[in-house]
Order: sequence, then structure tokens, then C-alpha cells
Amino acid sequence: MQKLVAIKGMNDILPPDSARWEWLEEKVRSLMARYAYRNIRTPIVEPTPLFVRGLGEVTDIVEKEMYSFEDRLNGEQLTLRPEATAGVVRAVVEHNMLYDGGKRLYYMGPMFRHERPQRGRYRQFHQIGAEALGFGGPEVDAEIILLAHALWAELGLTNVRLELNSLGQPDERRAHRAALIAYLEQHQDVMDEEARRRMYSNPLRVLDTKNPAMQDMVNAAPRLIDFLGEASLRHFDTVKAILDANGVAWSINPRLVRGMDYYNLTVFEFITEQLGSQGTICGGGRYDYLIEQIGGKSAPAVGWALGVERVLELLKEQAAQAPQPAADAYAVVPDAAALPQVMVCLQQLRALGVAVQMHSPANSAEGMGSMKSQFKKADASGARFALIFGSDELARGAVTVKPLRDGGEQVERPLATPADWAASLQSPR
Ligand code: ATP
Ligand code: MG
Repeated sequence: MQKLVAIKGMNDILPPDSARWEWLEEKVRSLMARYAYRNIRTPIVEPTPLFVRGLGEVTDIVEKEMYSFEDRLNGEQLTLRPEATAGVVRAVVEHNMLYDGGKRLYYMGPMFRHERPQRGRYRQFHQIGAEALGFGGPEVDAEIILLAHALWAELGLTNVRLELNSLGQPDERRAHRAALIAYLEQHQDVMDEEARRRMYSNPLRVLDTKNPAMQDMVNAAPRLIDFLGEASLRHFDTVKAILDANGVAWSINPRLVRGMDYYNLTVFEFITEQLGSQGTICGGGRYDYLIEQIGGKSAPAVGWALGVERVLELLKEQAAQAPQPAADAYAVVPDAAALPQVMVCLQQLRALGVAVQMHSPANSAEGMGSMKSQFKKADASGARFALIFGSDELARGAVTVKPLRDGGEQVERPLATPADWAASLQSPR
């Protein structure tokens, strides 16, 4: 039969690698709880118009990256979510979640974009995101940036820098837009086809180009920040002051516009130089007009999303610590006749918090396997102890505990009272 393989750009996450994922997710859960952000889980498939309306028609995602299809049963246009903010906002509106005030939310999960697969860029990838909805003040922009910054510290990541910009408000953007289009019209000779196509429909996005030949041109383009009014500047200044007071370094990138249309005021990215051209590990900003755009009652919001694959890749680069789990103990069982008694003991130990891996032969017709082969497996498992359920000890109502790692004598423990000795098997977790 022909071998079936996964779709290009969509990866299996296997042990032992998956342990790093769980470790990261645990760190995130604990940190989100300390900032009072609550978990939200929305569907992976949403109606296509949600993204077209939410992200903007002239965006990379909507123009060319969405996995869209027709529901075979009713013809509805559906899309695998390319990002989660639009879905979160839909859910918040649908369930009237802001009726009693703002909400702080976070999510984790797979996203789908049809991109050219390469290091740090996949077709199914994973994001963790934080969204604070219903809060308009600059302290929430700062809070959510501080939250991401704290996460890097918790993970042991270093050399992640923060870039900031302010996109102002729609009227300020309109004035800048006119100046920008006039400028771009003067420089069409260095613009690529995509830029020329977007020059009128989404000129801000032209500034976001990765085309090296256009960098000088976009660097000299009119800067949005120079078009901001007093209120926008004051908002931005407060964000910066809070970051400064917390010792969080930042730099202004006047060309930082972000991929989606929905942003206003503060936008930011966390960037590393250690992942090549896929160096943005986290990006976000304020999106005060999205909720209304998706049909809700107007309310401000701010959020970010990080790329899990990129964060984990950076962790590997920096050899930051992510523990590889091993069981505390490996059960060696010379005689299959003892299995019922052995497994009662293992269940008791697990209930007491001990991680126990059981020896299991591939083919039970040949018995449990030689002691030698069982000890080889025990060693390879990384467990700190072997529990030897030999018939002599079992006859005495006991099990032998043999240290496999740190030396020390083997001892016999009574099967009747596992609570008295279970703790001696546990490594600190
Ligand atoms: P890029 O400019 O690298 O395409 P983006 O602006 O499209 O990124 P966002 O939509 O802001 O990315 O998503 C937030 C984060 O999700 C990114 O900073 C990145 O870490 C991660 N990310 C985005 N697209 C992918 C992908 N195809 N594969 C892996 N991670 C991704
Ligand atoms: Mg992208």
C-alpha cells in the first residue's frame, strides 16, 4: 500500500520534543493566571467573511494565505483560522461578554496559512495569544507588553528586543496616507509589482515590504508618527513611560505597521536576530475598531500573538533549560504470573504521585523478556529507580528498589505500605 504522509508544512510534534511544548504551555498558563487573563477556546473553522472583514481584504493573509473551502453539505464558505483574534472578537460579541466590563483572555492553538514552508514558517503553526478587550487606556497596552516580556524571562530567553510604533487614529492615518501615496507615486521605478498594486488600496502595507531593493525607498517615506495628534502622542508616551519605569527597553520602528488592517495606536513586535529572516516571535497592538467591524458595540481592545514554533526554536538556539521528562521508576517484572499483583502496586504508587513506567514486551507470547533486556530498557528510559518484582521478594511481600542513576544501595520496600516509601522515589517536579 502507498505510504501516507502528512501535508507539507504541517508537522507532527513527537516525544521527546512535545515535552518542550508542554513545558512552554505550563509556563504560559501560570503566567496568564498571575496577570488575571482567562482561557478562551474558539473553533478552528470560522465563516470566511469573518476574516475578510476582520483582517482586511488587501492583506497577505486574505489575499493568498487562507485555507478556504465550501461546506459540502450547505455550500457555506469556511476558512481554517489563520489567526485567532477575529474568532475571539466574534465570540466576545456573540456572547455579549463585555456587558459587565472588560475581559482579559488568552488562547493557544493551531493556525493555518498557505505559505512557503521554511524554518520558522509552516502551514499549520501554533500561536499563543493574549487579548484585553473593553479597555482603552495606555496602561493596558503596557500591561500586555509587560506580560510578553515577563514570559521571555520565565522561559529564560535573552536577546529579544521590543520595537514599538503608533499607528494613530483613522483621521491621522488618512492625512498620512495622502502624503504617502504622493511619495510612492514619485518612486514607482523601485517598487515591485505587489507594492504598485497596493499603493492605492493599502499604501501602509507597502512600508512593510521585505523586498531588499525597496528598503531605502520605504525608509525615507513619510512617517505616520509625524502625523499623530496630541491625544495619540499622549497615549503612546504613557505606554513608553510605563515600559521605562519597568526597565523594559524598546526602540521605535516608524515602519512597523503589522500585517492586519485592524490595528490603531500602539503596535509592537518582539524580535530576535537568532532566527534568520523569521525573527519576529511575537506581534500585536491595539485594535479599537475591530469589535465594531465584526458587528459588536464599539469597544477598544489590545492584544498580541506569539509563534510557538519560533519561540521553541529560539529556546533551542539559546540552549535554555526545558526539562526532558523521565519516569521516576521503571518496573522490572521477571515473571508474567506476577502481573496482577505488580499492577496493583504500580497503581498505588501512581496515585501517590510517583511516575512509573511499566516494562512491556512487544510480543507477550515470549514472556516478559530476560532480566538483562529489561534492565537495558530501564536504563534507556532515564528512570532513576528500577522496581524489581522478583518472585522471591514478592513471596516476602516486598519489592526491590534499585537506584539506576545516582548510585546508592538497593533496598527492599513492603508492598503493603507504599505510602511510607513512595516519596523516596519522586524527583522534584
Ligand atoms: P511574518 O511577517 O513572519 O509573516 P506575521 O506578521 O504574518 O509574521 P502575525 O500574523 O503577526 O505574523 O502572527 C504572530 C506571530 O505568529 C508571528 O510573529 C510569528 O511568530 C508567528 N507566525 C506567523 N506566521 C507563521 C507561520 N506561517 N509559521 C510559523 N509561525 C508563524
Ligand atoms: Mg505572514
